[in-house]
Amino acid sequence: MKYETVIGLEVHVELATESKIFCSCSAKFGGGPNEHVCPACSGMPGMLPVVNKRVVDLGMTAGMMLNCHINRTTTFDKKSYYYPDLPGAYQTTQWFAPVAVNGLVEIETSSGKKGIRIKQIHMEEDAGKLVHDIMPDTTHVDFNRTSVPLIEIVSQPDLSSAEEVIAYLERLHSLLRFAKVSDCRWEQGSMRCDVNLSVRPEGSTKLGVRTEMKNMNSLAAIARAIEYETARHIDALEGGTEVLVQETRRWDDVRGKSYAMRTKETAGDYHYFPDPNVMPVVIDDEWYAEIKKSLPELPEVKRARYITEYGLSEYDAGLLTESRALCDCFEAALAVSGKAKDAANWLLSDTMTILNAKKMTSDMLKINGAALGELINLVSEGTVGRANGRKILAAMFDDESISPAKYAEENGYIVSRDTSLIESVVAAAIAADPKAVADYKSGKEKAIMSIFGRCMKELRGNCDPQTLREILIDAINRI
Ligand code: ZN
Ligand code: MN
Repeated sequence: MKYETVIGLEVHVELATESKIFCSCSAKFGGGPNEHVCPACSGMPGMLPVVNKRVVDLGMTAGMMLNCHINRTTTFDKKSYYYPDLPGAYQTTQWFAPVAVNGLVEIETSSGKKGIRIKQIHMEEDAGKLVHDIMPDTTHVDFNRTSVPLIEIVSQPDLSSAEEVIAYLERLHSLLRFAKVSDCRWEQGSMRCDVNLSVRPEGSTKLGVRTEMKNMNSLAAIARAIEYETARHIDALEGGTEVLVQETRRWDDVRGKSYAMRTKETAGDYHYFPDPNVMPVVIDDEWYAEIKKSLPELPEVKRARYITEYGLSEYDAGLLTESRALCDCFEAALAVSGKAKDAANWLLSDTMTILNAKKMTSDMLKINGAALGELINLVSEGTVGRANGRKILAAMFDDESISPAKYAEENGYIVSRDTSLIESVVAAAIAADPKAVADYKSGKEKAIMSIFGRCMKELRGNCDPQTLREILIDAINRI
């Protein structure tokens, strides 16, 4: 018999806010244990939560990016469960009126385009972290992550293979980073995914028994887990030794196997009820319009525009539009310099080299795009040499406020227009290397390069290479 896999995903994404969802504690990753904690987020009785407006902004942004309907009155509910990393013994989340519902995400795989429906996006607080490896037989609890704002993106069970799941997750990753909703770092847990999977005979409309694998945080592991779980379900359906039950399972990526963790709770087990301490959030027309206006141009629209409007190659346009930070920097540099190809080159070669050396990703790029435009002008008009331009760029990485023109002046990076200076440097270099001169004269054209290099070094790079070359050849010919 032929089978089909039915997969729905719940994707948790930590929002890029400064503070937590209901208090003013820092929401940043890291910090010493329990450094970002106050009575409200550590669940002390009598503390009243206040909704962080930025969380709602980003929840709406995510909803609009995924083509959802935005609920103009959105409310928070308590989801009851007891666990030591959850100090209030309930999670404040959204059940009855989540911020966004009924969306659609288009994905592309080897078999073409497909729409994946979004059931809802809800805002909620994260739990704390249990640390088991500090002392034997003792567990520590760190509440830094408690009440860090999340959105949970719940898809309909429209996915049917690991390939589709990866395409869907990559699409979410790109859209949410572009809209600056989240940095979406799998490795830091700011993006993680629960995989709900069942298998049924092909063509059947009835869903099979569903299992859930929680907190997956790498695309490769997700793909392996889906393959394994699909095979396990088919084996059970074909009368293997196992009987399928609805349950939560843990994926062990080292062993390449999933293990039963606990039988699956149903919504009823959580006793969802409206949180009486959190006021409903009403999104008026003005607020709605403000968020709508702030949405970024989609990456694929930008890519097409970079090709048609600015004449970039498909390759360069593709690389630039992988990162919102690169796009922003490119557009700002272009606005100042009007030189699209130069701006792309400076970003995709010189800037990338520095990023790689610093082990940074292009998303972390923070150089001032307008200043880059200014630098491009200085180099292309010949005021600053290319090599010294790179040094200025490196300095711009460490200090966003640098003005390239002023920095070039202060550090002696202005190209000399003084030909008598160049002529004297050339004369000294020729006198210092008679062998190279003789070689050049006997037809070895490349021999001139060592003298050229010596001159450039003496002039600290502040010389137009073409001018230097002409003066040098002229001087040798006159010997
Ligand atoms: Zn707090
Ligand atoms: Mn959740």
